[in-house]
Amino acid sequence: MEVEKPFTGEVLGTVPRCTADDVETAIARARVAQGTWRRTSFAQRKRVLLRFHDLVLSRQAEILDLIQLESGKARRHAFEEILDVAIVARYYANTAQRHLRSHRRRGALPFLTAAQEHRHPIGVVAIIAPWNYPFTLSMSDATPALAAGNAVVVKPDSQTPFSTLWGAALLEEAGLPPGLFEVVTGAGSQLGEPLIGGSDYLMFTGSTATGRKVAAQAAENLIPCSMELGGKNAMIVLDDASLTKAVDGATRALFSNAGQLCISVERLMVHDSVADEFTRRLVERTRGMKLDAGLDYRAEMGSLVSGTQLETVREHVEDATAKGATVLAGGRPRPDIGPYFHEPTLLDGVREGMTCFEEETFGPVAAVSTFASEQEAIARANASDYGLNFSLWTADAARGRRVAAQLEAGTVNVNEGYAAAWASVDAPMGGMKSSGLGRRHGAHGIQKYTEEQTVALQRVLPIAPPRFVGQRPWGKAMTASLRLLRRLPGVR
Ligand code: NAD
Repeated sequence: MEVEKPFTGEVLGTVPRCTADDVETAIARARVAQGTWRRTSFAQRKRVLLRFHDLVLSRQAEILDLIQLESGKARRHAFEEILDVAIVARYYANTAQRHLRSHRRRGALPFLTAAQEHRHPIGVVAIIAPWNYPFTLSMSDATPALAAGNAVVVKPDSQTPFSTLWGAALLEEAGLPPGLFEVVTGAGSQLGEPLIGGSDYLMFTGSTATGRKVAAQAAENLIPCSMELGGKNAMIVLDDASLTKAVDGATRALFSNAGQLCISVERLMVHDSVADEFTRRLVERTRGMKLDAGLDYRAEMGSLVSGTQLETVREHVEDATAKGATVLAGGRPRPDIGPYFHEPTLLDGVREGMTCFEEETFGPVAAVSTFASEQEAIARANASDYGLNFSLWTADAARGRRVAAQLEAGTVNVNEGYAAAWASVDAPMGGMKSSGLGRRHGAHGIQKYTEEQTVALQRVLPIAPPRFVGQRPWGKAMTASLRLLRRLPGVR
């Protein structure tokens, strides 16, 4: 299968087009390896993950090149993937044991039942990953699964398989036994079914449309799943926001990875009282952004990943302008830089009925609008099927927290675009509404890869009448005990 180099449209390399049989082989190998790995200590897993962390940092130049070459993104956006993979690996290396330790639980009857909750690795975790953050979205969902004692089989997107393959080699170099991180390359439509059918957990990141399909397959196989899907994220600039910081934050939130970021902003809402000044400054910044295809840090924005993606962006801009929207900045493809480059674009007057009003563009296009009151901004931000990530700008932290609580999004960044919540890996990250199911990061991001088990030890008396006591008096005694427990303070 040929993999394209988006900077030029040339072939970057080839990978095998795996079959359903290959997927079965990968899962079988993973299962064997997991049988041993599940019995290793947390300390041993921690050593592997921390070595992996160190190798990612020391070998970053290689993977930065690779990410850029297969995705076409600017190096500064590729570097976000290095940060993410290292931070998540370190976090779960250091916290897996704490998140997964056994707990004593209240028993059926005080003193008579000793109950304990345990977590066991779930087995083989399938990861289906998209192309936009090819290193992060394969590796950072895998490291918690591995830390919990599982094996992983990853199916990267066909457009960007090399970052995952490089990650697989690096994990083995870090000491991960062979078989625990398997990669199958090929079309999702062909490999999805055998992969989901043979695994014990599905971690999917991609579009909401595909998410619905694979979640149905997971349900058919009765395996749990986590869905990280699309967004139509809003950024709200309140009247008291620092405009300098908000403009700076907006350029990152709108145009990171050329807007091909699930948590990037496509709806920018600015309070009436600051809208003119804010928009003037943002338009100036956007027009001045440097687009480039170099393997260095000069570019502020890179290419789109493919001709298909460029076509979607063009269609959304053309549809909006044909229906009355105006272009404030950008608006055009830039074939002079590379076949799939498109200017960072700001649109004014985007209304209901235009494709980009509701649908995710997943490109460097944002609609700017104004609002008169906080309540209007909240209502409009929430008027979406999606609820992934919102950004809110205000000089008043208490106001920020109060407004954030009313926003229907899995993450809300106050005075940041997306990075504050994403990089707070001790806290859950994921989407409400059609943006997903389940969460990555934090306790949930590793506990989901385990099976919970309760072991209850009954002492002295069974939860049944002893042989010398009849059912009726036992029932009475139990009823009296329950009434007493109901009244005792501290009994839950
Ligand atoms: P996509 O759904 O087309 O593809 C994602 C992955 O699913 C790819 O590996 C693909 O090969 C695979 N796939 C496709 N059809 C399949 C099928 N029938 N069965 C099994 N697997 C299948 O998504 P995309 O367009 O490549 O990615 C962009 C989307 O991903 C955007 O909507 C974006 O918002 C979303 N995304 C979400 C997050 C998040 O964390 N919430 C992160 C990144 C991207």
